[in-house]
Amino acid sequence: MTMSQKEPESKTTESTNRKTLFSYLKKGIYRIETARKITQFCCFLLLNAVVFGLGPWPLVLPIIGTLGTPTKTVLEAFGTVQWMLFELVIPFLALASILLTAVFVSRSLCGWVCPFGFVQDLLKYVKKRHTQVSPRTHDSMIKIKYFILAVLLFISGTLAITLAAGVGRRYKTALGEDFARAPFNALSPADTLFAVLPRIVLEARYGIPTLIETGTVADGILSAPLFLWIRLAIMIGIIGLAAYIPRSWCRYFCPNGALMGLLSHFSFLGLKRDPVKCTKVGCRLCVEACPMMVRILDMPWEKFNDPDCIYCLKCTDACPTKAILPKFS
Ligand code: SF4
Ligand code: SF4
Repeated sequence: MTMSQKEPESKTTESTNRKTLFSYLKKGIYRIETARKITQFCCFLLLNAVVFGLGPWPLVLPIIGTLGTPTKTVLEAFGTVQWMLFELVIPFLALASILLTAVFVSRSLCGWVCPFGFVQDLLKYVKKRHTQVSPRTHDSMIKIKYFILAVLLFISGTLAITLAAGVGRRYKTALGEDFARAPFNALSPADTLFAVLPRIVLEARYGIPTLIETGTVADGILSAPLFLWIRLAIMIGIIGLAAYIPRSWCRYFCPNGALMGLLSHFSFLGLKRDPVKCTKVGCRLCVEACPMMVRILDMPWEKFNDPDCIYCLKCTDACPTKAILPKFS
């Protein structure tokens, strides 16, 4: 074979490689998942923007962030409801945020904004193969988050009622000041990750607790070592689990997700599956892509808003005929 024959051959291979790389990049750029990851990353930066001297902003969102932290720019709605009830103030702003978000965009903040959801999405890459949860176990475990929600609302509600009636002092003392103030945040893995850990690091590294806000849930927790160890154990457990089971905290434990899921029944937003485009039999690519194990193919095709759907749109990305799309009606 002569040199002149070899040259065109290598040029063809090069151009094929370039084309493959280009189509790969193009495919990646046009994927909804790419847009979602960028949005999640930007929101993560914004929600922690106090570090860069921005905020705090008077914004309450139904996501899991923190109440007590050196890096807070917006407040999490569920924690704020608990705190306001403890202070005997009606949490208008937090409730309005929860209701309006649920009605207009359902649980999409879980899929696109929540920093703890983002952390779990990243943890998924730690393990190549994930643990498959059987549908039966899944059906039993999704009830846990509703139970947690009910317990938390019961504690905050009864405490507020007894305090308002002037007979709640002993109840408050029995619960402990910090736990009573915001029972969820006192143990929340997100609060530990975003509030308590940075505080420990800052205090240990610089020894300047004055840099950090006072009067927060994290303050009291740091002064109670046993509580701190319990918090750390919960956080490590949840983070470890998320590496094996994607979004396991959101699926099974998050009370904010549970609340938004319950309200999602009243949402304008849903998903629709075009029955003409959907081949259904033998495909199931959408079901396999769903991190929340939503039984997409068993849902009504005209519109469905499953309480566990976080509108990540991985199902839309996965569907080769784009049969699944968001529907607002
Ligand atoms: S379920 Fe909870 S932790 Fe998960 S994304 Fe929603 S608010 Fe965040
Ligand atoms: S049904 Fe689709 S949009 Fe909803 S959680 Fe599953 S993959 Fe995401």
